[in-house]
Amino acid sequence: MTGARLLDGKALAAEVRATLKDEIAAATAGGRRPPGLAVVLVGNDPASAVYVRNKRKACQEVGILAADHDLPEDTSQADLLALIERLNDDPAIDGILVQLPLPGHVDSARVLNLIRPDKDADGFHPVNAGKLFLGETDGMAPCTPLGIMALIDKAGVDLKGKRAVVVGRSNIVGKPMAMMLLARHATVTVCHSRTVDLPGVVREGDVVVAAVGRGEMVRGDWIKPGAVVIDVGMNRNAEGKLVGDVAFAEASQHAAAITPVPGGVGPMTIAMLLRNTFEAYRRHTGA
Ligand code: NDP
Repeated sequence: MTGARLLDGKALAAEVRATLKDEIAAATAGGRRPPGLAVVLVGNDPASAVYVRNKRKACQEVGILAADHDLPEDTSQADLLALIERLNDDPAIDGILVQLPLPGHVDSARVLNLIRPDKDADGFHPVNAGKLFLGETDGMAPCTPLGIMALIDKAGVDLKGKRAVVVGRSNIVGKPMAMMLLARHATVTVCHSRTVDLPGVVREGDVVVAAVGRGEMVRGDWIKPGAVVIDVGMNRNAEGKLVGDVAFAEASQHAAAITPVPGGVGPMTIAMLLRNTFEAYRRHTGA
């Protein structure tokens, strides 16, 4: 049985969505247009189709207009770039989301870098990454680490002076996560595939964020007693069950608080996408 407190991302995401729904209703009450998010899906990847469906559904629930752009697998790079340019110029669109991965013949970086930074709902554009790095707060930040910060805050964790260990250094999770923890005065260590003695480093963490993509890699005895454990991973184990990067049952014996998979970080990522879109709408409309 778990001794740790469960950090319920599903419940917190529902709270965030309910607040947003009220805020959007208030902002549009006088007849102002609703916030618009363009959701671009290229090809037939089944996992991407599920993610996109969930994002569109969440938009609808809070009053964001999701403009669907479902394109065939063989869409040319030129056509995709032209679509992004049209969406950049479309005054009804506040956010643009291009679902990754894009097909192999498309240069993803070129597509993402063409998105206007003020419409970059995912927060992946170099301008927004740079703002996060510089500690400027007027950019758009990546949704997964934003959602994790909301979970940590909800749990009442004071990060100042704490040792935070981030396992994974991707541009969408690990690196921006490290920047956000640093901005909140944690002492941050970022680990990756070449880290020597990973268990020993993780054991130093008062806060551990696992974003690796390897099912149940982080074991219970890697967790410092009383640590807060955030599991970003979404992996299928041999039985086809969805598991995180952390061995949940074991880690729960040592942690003070832990996110479940599913129902932890995942729902928060979508909630933050909605929030980013609404923030962009506010800036675009003055609402
Ligand atoms: P990436 O594959 O881009 O990055 C994985 C990172 O883990 C890399 O930095 C890699 O190191 C590191 N790594 C891999 N193997 C090891 C190892 N044995 N020891 C230590 N570090 C290792 O993944 P993402 O950041 O995109 O995603 C990570 C996980 O989070 C995935 O399971 C993904 O599905 C999930 N995810 C979940 C989201 C959600 O909303 N819940 C959102 C985004 C991702 P190196 O750099 O050296 O290669």
